[in-house]
Amino acid sequence: MTRLQTYQVFPKIPERLEFLEKLARNMWWSWRLDAIELFRRVDPRLWVQSNRNPLIFATMIAQKRFERGLKDDGFLAHLDRVQKSFEKEIETPVDYSQTPYGADAQVAYFSMEFGIHESLPFFSGGLGVLAGDHLKASSDLALPMVAVGLLYRKGYFHQYLDHEGWQQEQYPETDIFHMPVRRARDPQGNELIISVEASGGLIYAKVWKIMVGRVALYLLDTNIAENPPELREITASLYPGDSAVRLAQEVLLGIGGMKALKKLGIEPAVCHMNEGHCSFVCVERIAQVMEGKNVDLQTAMEIVPRSMVFTTHTPVAAGYDEFPPDLVRPYLQEYEKRLGTDVDTILSWGQTGEKFDPHVKLSMFVLGHNFSQFCNGVSRLHGEVARGMWNHVWPQRPVEEVPISHVTNGIHIPSWISIENHMLFERYLGPDWYSTNFDTDRAERIDQIYNEEIWRAREMSRSRLVRACRSMMVRQYGRRNAPKSVMKEVESVLDPEILTIGFARRFATYKRAYMLFMDPERFEKLVGSKDRPVQFVFAGKAHPKDHEGKDLIRQVVHFSRRPGMRNKVVFLENYDINLARYLVQGVDVWLNTPRRPLEACGTSGMKAAVNGVLNLSILDGWWAEAYHPDCGWSIGNGEEYKDHAYQDQVECRALYNILENDVIPTFYDRREGDTPDRWVEMMKNSMKLVLGNFCAHGMVRNYEKDYYLPAVRNHAVLTDNNAESAGKLVAQRRRLKREWPAVRIEPPQSDIEVPFRVGDRFSVDTKVHLGALEPGEVEVELYSGSLKSVDELKNSQVTPMSAAEDLGGGTYRYTCEVVCQEAGRFGFTARVTPRGDDYLKNAPGFLTWA
Ligand SMILES: *Cc1c(COP(=O)(O)O)cnc(C)c1O
Repeated sequence: MTRLQTYQVFPKIPERLEFLEKLARNMWWSWRLDAIELFRRVDPRLWVQSNRNPLIFATMIAQKRFERGLKDDGFLAHLDRVQKSFEKEIETPVDYSQTPYGADAQVAYFSMEFGIHESLPFFSGGLGVLAGDHLKASSDLALPMVAVGLLYRKGYFHQYLDHEGWQQEQYPETDIFHMPVRRARDPQGNELIISVEASGGLIYAKVWKIMVGRVALYLLDTNIAENPPELREITASLYPGDSAVRLAQEVLLGIGGMKALKKLGIEPAVCHMNEGHCSFVCVERIAQVMEGKNVDLQTAMEIVPRSMVFTTHTPVAAGYDEFPPDLVRPYLQEYEKRLGTDVDTILSWGQTGEKFDPHVKLSMFVLGHNFSQFCNGVSRLHGEVARGMWNHVWPQRPVEEVPISHVTNGIHIPSWISIENHMLFERYLGPDWYSTNFDTDRAERIDQIYNEEIWRAREMSRSRLVRACRSMMVRQYGRRNAPKSVMKEVESVLDPEILTIGFARRFATYKRAYMLFMDPERFEKLVGSKDRPVQFVFAGKAHPKDHEGKDLIRQVVHFSRRPGMRNKVVFLENYDINLARYLVQGVDVWLNTPRRPLEACGTSGMKAAVNGVLNLSILDGWWAEAYHPDCGWSIGNGEEYKDHAYQDQVECRALYNILENDVIPTFYDRREGDTPDRWVEMMKNSMKLVLGNFCAHGMVRNYEKDYYLPAVRNHAVLTDNNAESAGKLVAQRRRLKREWPAVRIEPPQSDIEVPFRVGDRFSVDTKVHLGALEPGEVEVELYSGSLKSVDELKNSQVTPMSAAEDLGGGTYRYTCEVVCQEAGRFGFTARVTPRGDDYLKNAPGFLTWA
């Protein structure tokens, strides 16, 4: 058959209900339970059948349903309420000139994935869900933000299991008509098409726009007639195995994304790159700044990095993309002319050496980080791990001074809260708890909720999960044509009354899904207990190429088929946002067993905690900074091991000890009526923990305070007045480059023969040879701390030294005073850096130690 011409017919919605259509076309509905409820009310059965996609839903509804809605005044009042909120939160314009951003500054957020709702196949896992939550919170807080990504029709794979428990993958295509997208148009009203240069000619992409509350998300799509068939497939699915296609995607996202913004008339003041996939943004942004501000390459290279934010998400070096220079070269050809430099030089920006090396791959991390003054990991521990991992890029810096900080991830609570807890929060935190910043005061009100009320909410969520599991299991087994007797059994799996433990995450080996099964006897005893039984729900996908991960899934499935287990251990297929929501709301305990420190953050634990689900986890990622015995349990004390088999054994034993001695007894302690009061207290503490410290609103506020606003100011100052101050920075850097080789500093001296007492002071002197530089151009610092070993310090501290005497010939005596604050062995040394902002100080080569 030839290619079909297709068209779509939507129902005719009566005028009084027209808001429904507007609502369906803004993803805002997806985090407003009252809006979801509004759709559902039109036809509850079809709403579920449509997979909660309002556009599919609309095509299924009988016209007469709308007519009936017109006569239902309860429904109409509900509609009006939602419409009012929408007008207030989304349509009321914000006067940005009254905010610290100023009238036109915009933040552009780039990401390979966006997990907004299960109906949009633009994400694979945690990174994408985080990006989605970031946009939703930015919309709630009305930040001047736009976002850029790719439009995948097939997204990430759907998972199903065969008879043997082996994962199978399917890539169903989502119809573009079933996504609330519109073609993006330029200011003249033309449909937008952009192109990037490639080895075989141009790659074209059309640009779609989808509204996530107030935030416009632009998505590039190569499925366009201008491209030959093989190029149309570039944006078909997420993370293709072929690295050439991956590179093409990353070029489209970074270079194409920036070009799309330009054509839309958007010149971002700040670009935020969510992981190294977006790093090509730097190259195109430099070209745009050169052309738009009429400055040379050196000046643009002073402006761009000071208004760039880079977030890294993985603690494993193998998790970063790298490409052979020759593969990248054709994409950069156009920049020879636009930047006025050769491709080798541009390629060298993604390498760590001074000069371009044709045998070294281009690292997307190095490229992104090189051009970002603001760089962060996603939890405190991950920040530390990332600094250690990338210390080789700044060999002169002590590890704690590697310029990578952290902003701990947070979750967009309205997207993950159960309806039961939502109603409690509405009553106790206030009706607008949804869209406001949570603070610790507000969180304290959780304590006022009656224990019985919280516990009822918990039981309702658990029952809902059990019901959902049963219908999913029936579907799973039905598709495999399971015999009648088995079908009968799966119709009644799980028990809505008993302690339910959830484990849902990617089946990567380091997440160690096998840990529970390492001691099968102990496991069977837990599950088989008559008076204090436990049940387990598993879910998660393995990467299509990860055979080991798939084997882990198979093992779980086989275990669940043992006699006596089928009813108590289930594996649910196709872990996605919808299933995640059921799980983080419905289980009692959220189990996480990563091999520390490989879990960068682990946001699913936060989703669970805010629903009053207690975390039982290795002290890794966010849990390493959040854990407190009043809100959950830690497996071990944050140890790291060389011998992995030994580690597994130790931690498996610890896990079972906690389950048997703490978790199960606390859950079944029902002396006071039928609520386990200690458990409920821990539930409240978990909710408060996330409301106060780990919500996306707080996370976005942190990005704003530490990065966005300083970057906006940098951008304004540096581009003002024909980029005059950026020009000064160029001259400063040139001068420093020329003169720095002459800079030397002598070991600092002091009269420290006698032991000191706490409170004593002494002074330290050193001689610094500055060559042609002036003391006003440098900073001399005493670097001190307690001795870790003879040549290493910990708890280091930096004290500025001041020029005390001009010794002539470019040599100066510097001095400072040291106060002995506590007893112990201490050491110090001294160093010179340029005087300037962090971006200048962190430039390689400008740090000289004594
Ligand atoms: C939240 C979420 C994740 C990330 O959670 P982790 O704790 O990092 O595993 C992954 N997938 C889905 C569907 C999620 O909702």
